[in-house]
Amino acid sequence: MLGLMQEWPLVCHKIIDYAARQHPNREVVSRSIEGPITRSTWREVRARSLKVAQLLAREGFQPGDRIATLAWNTGRHLEAWFGIMGMGGVYHTLNPRLFPDQIAWIMNHASDRAIFTDLTFMPLVEKLAPAVESLRKVIVLTDAAHMPETALPNVVAYEEWLTEADGDFEWADVGEKAACGMCYTSGTTGDPKGVLYSHRSNVLHAMMSCMPDAMGIGARDVVLPVVPMFHANAWGLGQSGPMIGAKMVMPGGKMDGESIYELLDTEKVTFTAAVPTVWLMLLQYLEQTGNKLPHLEKVVIGGSACPRAMTEAFEKVYGVEVIHAWGMTEMSPLGSLCTMKPEYAAFTGNDLFDIKQKQGAAPFGVEMKITDDDDAELPWDGKTFGRLKVRGPAVAASYYGGDGADQFDAAGWFDTGDVAHIDENGYMQITDRSKDVIKSGGEWISSIDLENLAVGHPDVAEAAVIGLPHEKWGERPLLIVVAREGRTPSGSDILSFMEGKVASWWMPDDVTFVDEIPHTATGKIKKTALREQFEGYKLPG
Ligand code: AMP
Repeated sequence: MLGLMQEWPLVCHKIIDYAARQHPNREVVSRSIEGPITRSTWREVRARSLKVAQLLAREGFQPGDRIATLAWNTGRHLEAWFGIMGMGGVYHTLNPRLFPDQIAWIMNHASDRAIFTDLTFMPLVEKLAPAVESLRKVIVLTDAAHMPETALPNVVAYEEWLTEADGDFEWADVGEKAACGMCYTSGTTGDPKGVLYSHRSNVLHAMMSCMPDAMGIGARDVVLPVVPMFHANAWGLGQSGPMIGAKMVMPGGKMDGESIYELLDTEKVTFTAAVPTVWLMLLQYLEQTGNKLPHLEKVVIGGSACPRAMTEAFEKVYGVEVIHAWGMTEMSPLGSLCTMKPEYAAFTGNDLFDIKQKQGAAPFGVEMKITDDDDAELPWDGKTFGRLKVRGPAVAASYYGGDGADQFDAAGWFDTGDVAHIDENGYMQITDRSKDVIKSGGEWISSIDLENLAVGHPDVAEAAVIGLPHEKWGERPLLIVVAREGRTPSGSDILSFMEGKVASWWMPDDVTFVDEIPHTATGKIKKTALREQFEGYKLPG
């Protein structure tokens, strides 16, 4: 027997319709690429998205067409997203931190037909455009006064383009299963793979990410997504923000400590999210200036493991609650958040910070398991680690074009490539990438645990651990350290600091110092590059 309830498709334009109807005057503030802070509202964002959709449709773009964006987080970028989705198209966020050849490869793989770009990236687009045969139009997210000279054909200034439309347009009726967004994984190995979001997956993801034990945001929040829209959908905030009618503060291209602090302070931001590298810059800035964070209530930290010292600094010094989160582009991206279930709610001090080192529990809509190499499920005891597998309505079922099919099994489980343990209360902790875990004497050593421990040393700015070949044990850990500015710790200082905090056979065999640790385009430590750099390195003994 079928239920007798309405079929109300879960499509993304309903999000912006809702925001404009229920929260019309709530502000969307942007640090514009031209410089000044600009102000808009959800009503205006919707009105302008309708114009974008109308113009794209009028110019012959079809539902299903991939339309790229190469842009920072701004109100205009949001308008482009909702306009593209609203005409039935697929927004395809490009990560400008990738090499130009890689971006061109991705654009060709996706057959992007148009691109919205910020002024910042015009020189890059001039290089890319001739290499992407499918590309028909370039829309520069600026006004006529700021348009640069360019020899590219079919280029238009966004503001001028919008004047050609009146916004009298019906959102395209493509159904909730239609694709609406696309993002390629950064892929530390092999070619990047395309994740293709549907309207339904984006709407469900936005709903689950706002829940109190997930991000827990509402209309009273002022939300600053520092995490870029090109990094896994700004962790869904581009959709969840309007869904709950929050005021949004979009940071544009400036993510240094001073610029982020300025927005946190002047716009009275209550909620923000980004990778640890960004927060490192902010915390350093706060330390130097003595400024505080009186308005900020919560910060979500993920993308790579949040160092304990960072959680403690936010919570103890600035009174800001840290939510450690884990996710993947393939998961839209949220997979788990470390908010407190009743079992842990009364914890304080070190006990609480121990829990906050974990990446947390899955919200409704994410199923998890850990398995051994033979796919046998492992116990949730907080110790046994194995391959982390996930499924859910906002998890990829396959990659675009059928790439990487071996990561998906018949029962719908996606192998994340992460190694983790899960405790009896369902809190997951990543111990490694399966490619980075150090296999010593048949046992696994977590490189991430060692890195977290090393950065707890007051003279260490950043640390990475890689496994080096070892005659007797197979592999042994090497600790690579960037010292804090003006500090000169010795290897033995750092090792004695770590001693007693991990099993003795986990202790790195050696410590080496570098000026800089290489990062991927999404801010993760590039272990492949480190392994190349330290190939042939002789461990003592
Ligand atoms: P991306 O798709 O670029 O967001 O990368 C996803 C990968 O980032 C995951 O598979 C993890 O390896 C890593 N990652 C994300 N969040 C965390 C976290 N909180 N702790 C450790 N690793 C993380």
